[in-house]
Amino acid sequence: MSVELKGKHLIAGDWVGGEESFANVPFDGAPDRFAEGTPEQVALACEAAEEAFWSYGYTTRAERAAFLREIADQIEARADAITPMAMKESGLPEARLQGERGRTTGQLRLFADHIEKGDYLDRRHDMALPDRQPLPRPDIRLIQRPIGPVAVFGASNFPLAFSTAGGDTASALAAGCPVVVKGHPAHPGTTDIVAQAIDAAIRKCGIHPGVFSVIQGSGHQLGAALVQHPLIKAVGFTGSLRGGKALFDLCMARPEPIPFYGELGSVNPMFVLPEAAKARGAAIGEGWAGSLTMGAGQFCTNPGIAVVRKGADGDAFVAAATDALTKVGAQKMLTDGIAAAYRDGVDRFDGRNAVTPLLQNDNEGRTARPALYEIDAEAFLADHTVGEEVFGPLGVVVRVEDTAAMETLAKGFEGQLTATLQMDEGDMDTAARLLPILERKAGRVLANGFPTGVEVSEAMVHGGPYPASTNFGATSVGTMAIRRFLRPVSYQNMPVGLLPEDLQ
Ligand code: NAP
Repeated sequence: MSVELKGKHLIAGDWVGGEESFANVPFDGAPDRFAEGTPEQVALACEAAEEAFWSYGYTTRAERAAFLREIADQIEARADAITPMAMKESGLPEARLQGERGRTTGQLRLFADHIEKGDYLDRRHDMALPDRQPLPRPDIRLIQRPIGPVAVFGASNFPLAFSTAGGDTASALAAGCPVVVKGHPAHPGTTDIVAQAIDAAIRKCGIHPGVFSVIQGSGHQLGAALVQHPLIKAVGFTGSLRGGKALFDLCMARPEPIPFYGELGSVNPMFVLPEAAKARGAAIGEGWAGSLTMGAGQFCTNPGIAVVRKGADGDAFVAAATDALTKVGAQKMLTDGIAAAYRDGVDRFDGRNAVTPLLQNDNEGRTARPALYEIDAEAFLADHTVGEEVFGPLGVVVRVEDTAAMETLAKGFEGQLTATLQMDEGDMDTAARLLPILERKAGRVLANGFPTGVEVSEAMVHGGPYPASTNFGATSVGTMAIRRFLRPVSYQNMPVGLLPEDLQ
């Protein structure tokens, strides 16, 4: 299908421009221009979303499932336009973006299947007990209902799977909530084409056009206006700790505070237990380097910290990791800003006395080379800034005396998306002592793998205690993500004919 950029916002079925414009900043090629959104346009989109809710919030699960599948089909129909635009804007390679498109459409279809099954409604029924003493019990039925219009912020590092039609949008639409997307300024062209796909699906399925709008822009005022709009009932966000915290604070300061589901990233510590280090320290080191540099380290699940014992087995891990990282050349970064932030992060490490550089590289422009540092456990615990995320291919090896020190270190970590144990049979006792600590710290604990590569499935949790996420009861990946956009309602002694269809 031939696709032309609209260069405008999609607001309730209309492509709307404006006086101001901004350009994308492609890694290669000529920039494209896009209308710069205004708070007034945000308000129009939110009002249309509220209007759409009165019909879309009451669609059947079958209707919503058909809509989600149609969006997936329309995205696939535009595949030949989406991949080159996403490559141009993000610098990510073709194979990765094709895989990400498959993940995006797979996610939409997974939510379609999920709502068709209906388990997510968590229906409950307390039968009336009219003869109960001392008081009769009423008939009470419970079901999950959609919450209303949801704001979604596209993420820079997944221009498809965590952006315009990504997991947040898919789960909100599956729940029955209209969506207003704030497009990420790093990939407005990709957003434009995906929005065209959603627009086509809305028309084909005959759904109220206010069900989906996207406002593009390159300034904080748009996001601020969106989360503060009184008709928005929840926010899905993936991005930086600073941006996420600022938006979270705005949500909390509203006259009606609303949940802000922010996924803000982490350093994802990996603990290499002694027997595993002895048996295959070098192989683990090599694997870690691969995970650390995947996608130029621009994954929220990037395992930035490895905790390894001092001694020969740990040295083998370090040597293999250093060797593997040395062979990795300069990788493209998503944006100039992210590349600059990586350089700042590297400079901060270079300026620390307590860390020993194992691999240093100069970086320039929009590229990054890996960097590796080593630090003693005591020094690490004394300076919590060493444990802060540097977005990109930067690794830190924390050397500990023994497994007791690993436990102390584990207790010192902030909330994480993931924590990993590299372990063998002989490490079971150590792992059993670490696991209760790690499950308090992370949304996902892995044994013998690497955390990059997040399965989109029923049992996945992509979240964790703050600062990994702003809401540890939620996940932004997997079918449980739908819960963020639902609210339980009890119906007491309600005539059956008045109950939501799913409860009758
Ligand atoms: P970001 O700066 O947090 O931006 C994410 C979105 O929020 C953008 O749409 C941005 O748009 C908006 N925004 C940011 N600050 C805002 C504020 N104060 N008020 C209103 N809106 C705001 O993240 P990014 O641009 O994707 O990348 C920058 C850094 O984020 C990276 O260096 C990395 O540290 C981190 N990051 C983390 C993850 C993760 O997986 N957790 C993913 C990507 C990036 P405007 O700038 O147009 O306002």
